[in-house]
Amino acid sequence: MEERIYDIIIIGGGPAGYSAALYAARAGLDTLVVERMSAGGQMALTDIIDNYPGFENGVDGFELGMKMQQGAQRFGAKTEYGEVVGVDLEGAVKSVSTASKTFYGRTVVIATGANPRELGVENESKLLGRGVHYCAHCDGRFYKDKTVIVVGGGNSAVSDALYLSRIVKKVYLVHRRDALRATRIYHEPLMKAENVEFVWNSRVAEIHESNGRVGGVTVLDVNDGNKRLIDCDGLFISIGRQPVTAFLRDSVKLDAQGYIVADETTKTNIDGVYAVGDVRTKVLRQVVTAVSDGAVAVHYAEEYLG
Ligand code: NAP
Repeated sequence: MEERIYDIIIIGGGPAGYSAALYAARAGLDTLVVERMSAGGQMALTDIIDNYPGFENGVDGFELGMKMQQGAQRFGAKTEYGEVVGVDLEGAVKSVSTASKTFYGRTVVIATGANPRELGVENESKLLGRGVHYCAHCDGRFYKDKTVIVVGGGNSAVSDALYLSRIVKKVYLVHRRDALRATRIYHEPLMKAENVEFVWNSRVAEIHESNGRVGGVTVLDVNDGNKRLIDCDGLFISIGRQPVTAFLRDSVKLDAQGYIVADETTKTNIDGVYAVGDVRTKVLRQVVTAVSDGAVAVHYAEEYLG
């Protein structure tokens, strides 16, 4: 039996991936999405998204992911589930392999996104979901009237700290420097929040376990080496993200952080291969910029296919 050769294979079913799938299928291209688990990517872990236009009261991230998938399927896009472990992107027919299957396509769109970065401290993975979290909007509600630590100084950490300050009794914001990286718009409301305490120039040194859950955290002052034990119920780690590109094994050009080098055209260094959403080098990683990338990639894929 001859192998089916898709016009376009999209790796990853987040907003960027399903936007590409919608545009491709609607343009009449034979379209396959290969998705690891379920539609939506990181967006599906967010309870309410209110910076995606068209939803006056915000929208549940999981629901939006499902709707994006269904929208693409309406025009004939197909989804196969499985984690992509290898690719061969050179030549006119490219291949994308999971542990059990290999798919062939004339063009490939990489939309694998980025996962939360870990601290690498003992007990971090052991207590995951039992006090250690990477998504304040998903898990913050379990900490009503409790004490939590947020680690990081970027936009995510600061917006997580603000969000949590409205739910919990007390938030410690632990940051390794003495100034926030986050945009100014977040500074004032955070400084005003009475239950937020900044712990500057500090790193998480130890995560303590108590009855199988986080029982406290020791932070280390990076300037004087002093240690401080902070009693807390939860630890929200918000120190940036790690692009999902290891499976490419250097077949596509990456930057020093592992993001795929691609500009607003979404074109990579390989003809017929595009990178969309959080996995590519870009200034602003948001749902709205991810879906835009999907449309742009298909524009160039159609041009390439001729
Ligand atoms: P980010 O901007 O890269 O910030 C990461 C923060 O974590 C930095 O403060 C960094 O410290 C700290 N950090 C990194 N590694 C660490 C480690 N090993 N230990 C302790 N601290 C560490 O990441 P992000 O906040 O997740 O944001 C990612 C992107 O999404 C950004 O482009 C951001 O603007 C965007 N975003 C936008 C919004 C919004 O506008 N509504 C909301 C969230 C995210 P240093 O400052 O010392 O480097």
